[in-house]
Amino acid sequence: MSVLVTGGAGYIGSHTVRALEKRGYEVIVVDNLSKGHRSSVNKSVFYEGDIRDKDFLGGVFSKHKITAVIHFAALSLVGESVKRPDLYFSANLQGALSLLDVMNKHDVDQLVFSSTAAVYGEPSVGPLLEEHPKVPTNPYGESKLFIEKILHRHDQAFGIRSISLRYFNAAGADLAGDIGEDHRPETHLIPLILQTALEQRREIQIFGTDYPTDDGTCIRDYIHVNDLSDAHILALEALASGASSNAYNLGNGKGFSVREVIATAEKVVGRSIPTQEAPRRAGDPAILVASSERIQSELNWEPKLADLKSIIETAWVWHKSHPHGFRK
Ligand code: UDP
Repeated sequence: MSVLVTGGAGYIGSHTVRALEKRGYEVIVVDNLSKGHRSSVNKSVFYEGDIRDKDFLGGVFSKHKITAVIHFAALSLVGESVKRPDLYFSANLQGALSLLDVMNKHDVDQLVFSSTAAVYGEPSVGPLLEEHPKVPTNPYGESKLFIEKILHRHDQAFGIRSISLRYFNAAGADLAGDIGEDHRPETHLIPLILQTALEQRREIQIFGTDYPTDDGTCIRDYIHVNDLSDAHILALEALASGASSNAYNLGNGKGFSVREVIATAEKVVGRSIPTQEAPRRAGDPAILVASSERIQSELNWEPKLADLKSIIETAWVWHKSHPHGFRK
């Protein structure tokens, strides 16, 4: 079975490509390399191009007999999306619409979609269930919620079945040690903490210390990137065996504050990490913690690396051995 992975050279995409390869899928990767790294994909067929370019994308579908698509290609930074909603709506919505159009023309009717906890906005209570009201607090989350709605309508109208996976905070690196998190610029908490530990940064800024949480800092649910990859494969298998469209949360059901993440990272690296208190980052909700019961019971998903310290350890192995990421 051939699977097209859009954004397969990105952080979660490249880990999922490895997981698919290991399970014997034929994988075709499309990435415009605006954020992804060419060297993170070493085995699968690779096409550099933008999914908004329908001629390009149609050409890929014509060359390969694609059965299903996993769609990662998108802009994904909360803070940036608040500053540049125009970019987020155009890249994410036009990308999804173009992909769906080409899938439709080529009779491909199975899609696993990379969604996000940001679709919920500011949750009233946690851990969050999939039915929780969806009122995104930022354009990134809004763009992903619109796409979920577009997918729902494409199922009704064209029979394209999709599973949306709403990730909480992806973290960690593949245990083989040759791929990991490398964003340019880096904005994510765990890599920034580890870069500070490597003395590539003077300190880690704590964005907001006046949130309504025990220590005043934001609480997030961190999930290992390989546990996310596994979920994509389970979703793919479910669609292949005829599952209806659905959406699932993916997290570990446990929240950690920014200060707790820093304290855990200090244990992993064995030294103290300088911090600086800073104002809140626009668009950030106070607490995001998942209930992943639905995917556990319906798709038998089980996290293998659920503990925050172990997750950070895998990231630390990658950062120590690749202090400049994918750059040589
Ligand atoms: N954060 C922080 N300092 C940083 C980067 C992030 O305090 O330099 C906080 C951020 O406000 C959020 C949490 O860490 O509460 C996780 O942020 P990240 O960007 O890693 O993921 P997001 O939650 O935006 O997907």
